[in-house]
This record gives sequence, C-alpha cells and structure tokens, in this order.
Amino acid sequence: MANRLRHCLSALFLGSALLSAAPTWAQKTYLHCGRLLDMRQDRAQSEMTLVVEKGRVVAVEKGYTMPTGTTNTVIDLKNRTVLPGLIDCHVHLEGETSKDNFLQELTQNPADVAFGSLDHARKTLLAGFTTVRDLGGSGVNIALRNAINKGQVVGPRIFTAGKAISGTGGHMDPTNGYRQDLMGIPGPSQGVANGPDQCRQAVREQYKRGSDLIKIASTGGVLSVAKDGSSAQMTELEIRAIVETARDLGLQVACHAHGAEGMKRAIRAGVNSIEHGTLMDDETMKLMVKNGTWYVPTITAGKSVADSAKIPNYYPPLVTPKAISIGPKLQGTFGRAYKAGVKIAFGTDASVYRHGVNALEFQYMVEAGMPATQALRAATVNAASLLGQSENLGTLEPGKLADIVAVEGDPTQDIKVMQRVRFVMKQGTVYKQE
Ligand SMILES: [Zn+2]
Repeated sequence: MANRLRHCLSALFLGSALLSAAPTWAQKTYLHCGRLLDMRQDRAQSEMTLVVEKGRVVAVEKGYTMPTGTTNTVIDLKNRTVLPGLIDCHVHLEGETSKDNFLQELTQNPADVAFGSLDHARKTLLAGFTTVRDLGGSGVNIALRNAINKGQVVGPRIFTAGKAISGTGGHMDPTNGYRQDLMGIPGPSQGVANGPDQCRQAVREQYKRGSDLIKIASTGGVLSVAKDGSSAQMTELEIRAIVETARDLGLQVACHAHGAEGMKRAIRAGVNSIEHGTLMDDETMKLMVKNGTWYVPTITAGKSVADSAKIPNYYPPLVTPKAISIGPKLQGTFGRAYKAGVKIAFGTDASVYRHGVNALEFQYMVEAGMPATQALRAATVNAASLLGQSENLGTLEPGKLADIVAVEGDPTQDIKVMQRVRFVMKQGTVYKQE
C-alpha cells in the first residue's frame, strides 16, 4: 500500500519534503501547531503539538514537543491554524456540472465515469475535505470508495449511497427526459420504486451492492428533466418502508426535498437528514427540532444553479426556470433554520458546481448569520455525528483518526481562509503541504 500511495503521490506532487512526511507505521509524527482549533472547544490554543501514530492522534501536548526516536517526523505548522479534517455531507463524486451533462448520460460508459471521478476525488481531498457522504450516482461511487480505502487512488474517505431512490418520473428516475422508446421501465434495481414492497427491494439492492447509506428524493428536484421541482413524490408509507428496511440493515436515510409537504412526510417517517430543504416552513423546522432531524443546506448548489441558468441553453428548457426560482432561496432558508435551532451539518452538493471549492459554503453560512465557529462545527463535530462516526472523526483528540488540515490565518475571524487549505493529512498520511 505504501509503495502504491507513494507512486500516486509522486505523480501528484514534485516536492520531496512531502513524500518524506508520509510515515511508515512504526513512526510517530509530531505536528507543531501555531494555533490548534481542536473543535472540542471553540477557542484556539496556541503552540500545541499533535502526536500521530498508526493513522490516529495519540497525544495532544502543550508547547512544541520533540520526538526522542530518530525515525520520528516533525511537521512545522507553527504559522498555521490546525483543525480536524473537514467533512462534506453532500457530494456526488461521479460527475460535475457542464453544458453536456444530459448528453453524457447516454454517451459515457461506467469506466469513463470512473476515470472522471478520480479527479473529483483528488480535488476534494486537497481542498481539505478528508471525508464525504456521496449522495448518489450510478454505483461507480462504491468502487471509488473501495479503491480509495485500498490506497489505489487518492481521495477522501467516502460514505456512499450508491444509486439514489425515488418513484417513477421522480427526481432519481435515470430516464427522465429520454425519448420514450429509450425510457424502458426502470425498477428497484435502477433506484425507481413504487409502493412499499418495491421500496424495500430498492433498499436491499443498495445494501447488497455495498452502499453505506440510503438516499431518497421525497420531492422533485432542480436538475432532473421534469416539470416540477418541489411537489411531493413519495407517499409517507413508501418512505416509512424505506426507513424501516434501512434501519434493519444498519443504514441511515438521507432525503432530498425542496417542498414542505415532502419534507414533513420524510421527517415523520424518520429519515436522518433533509438535504436542501429549500421551501422549509416554520412548521417543518419545528418538526425537525422535535425529531432531531439533521439539515444539510447545500447553499453553494443553490447559488450555482441560479448562476448557470443565466447562461443561454446551459440547462434543458424544463430545468432553467426551476434553477432560477429554487436556487437563490436556499441561503435565506438556511438562516431561518439556524435561528429556529435545527441541527445543521455541512453539505454542498459538489458536482452541481465544480469539485474542490466546497469551502465556499462556509462563507455563505456566515453571511446568512451563523457564527464562524458554528459553521466550522457543522463541518466537523456535527457532520461526524450525522455520519455516526463521532468516535473516529470531528475533533482532534487522542483516539481519533489523524484527519488534520491547516490554514493560514484565523478562520474564526475570517472564514474565507478555509477556501485555501495549506495542509492535508488523512489517517496519518500527508497529501498536501504548502
Ligand atoms: Zn445532490
């Protein structure tokens, strides 16, 4: 694994200092942190040392401590603020926005999608996002997760939903907008399910293929070639069948929703998170607070689709008006949900905009009224909690995985510094050091 990884890294970077920072498992790595924002507390501590061994943080020490053994490594981050690796709870690593997206559905083979996804995964990791939830693609995202876990390719740690699920003609029906003789009759295997029985089957198909969680769409969406972006598209009974089946299999359910009715059905049925939540009303927010449902806002996606829709013929005619009307509303909804006390985890819908600029979301969250430390918390502690990974991720303390990033300046004073991450370590291996 080490050799393969070194080979990948040498293709990516020419700096020999970087390669020497990749530890072998016998070593300890000492990171000298000018400021450490461990996210156990909101205040940074000055002049701290993080000790990393076997891919985990083993000690957090005051001052700049030095290793005694000669094989140990010291990394100088004395002029940086050091934070836990960032987590984006809503990405799609298989694709990326372009004018040709809808044609690509018919021209790309799975291998083409796979090669394209490598670049998206690498950009995401180098932007400081050491963990992501991939909320749906063709299923190539499962193979990508496995390849990254084996060290064959470079990318973030992935929790993937495989192929997302909705009803016929719903947001996740892969044949929306096709010529009728090409539509066929997609079923649960293709993520199209009608009625509780098919919904149960669709969940079990994803489990069998190796998905880590289930993604559904309880309302229409912006980018599907269909007329309505917000109407309810699944019955409460269907969503309940999905949630119950997923729960039996130890899987969480993330639910795409723009309209309030589809959101309420999903929240009552017990989904773990609402994605986008654009037209969330006060009643829905109360229901989310009461049920402990997470909100993953994806403000960046909203702003980006509204911008792209201004470019003539960028989207198919059915999509453009939805992008213009739904997109710009997300930031306002997010601000209201935060004030209403809804639990918020960071997520951006990367792919709807270009991969690697995920940290723009921080700026939009702060603009909407969330304090910078809370926005950072959403991408670390909260996201780890949503993933059910609080034991491994979200803070920097002994026992946690050594997912560590560093920026220049103080993100609690200027959140924009998160858009230029200077250092990335994932599970003890350095991928970027500027
Ligand atoms: Zn999405």
